[in-house]
Amino acid sequence: MSKTPAKILVRMKEYYIEHKEEIQIRKRKYYAEHQKELQDRQRKYNARDREKTITILGAKCARCGIVDKRVLEIHHINGDGNRDRAERGRRSVLQDVIKGITEPYELLCANCHLIKTFTKDL
Ligand SMILES: [Zn+2]
Repeated sequence: MSKTPAKILVRMKEYYIEHKEEIQIRKRKYYAEHQKELQDRQRKYNARDREKTITILGAKCARCGIVDKRVLEIHHINGDGNRDRAERGRRSVLQDVIKGITEPYELLCANCHLIKTFTKDL
């Protein structure tokens, strides 16, 4: 998958192991100095990916049809959203949908999502 030759990857890994502490200190310092900029960039990526995901999933609530993107949420049809987020992270759903994996997800507005989740209403 990587275009970097195996020999170089091995050397990079050795270098990391040999210099692990100083690399981590440097990373922490960089993060502290650029925190605002890094957070802004992440927010921008999240907003972009959310927008793409909503478009791919049809851009409207699957139950009531509302199209206001501010209230649209991604529902795990199998009801395992909390477990999925805990195991794979919050961005995993967005990444799945952008890659073309649209099951087991559907778009619901916040009200329909609550009703469906708490009443197990199908
Ligand atoms: Zn709805």
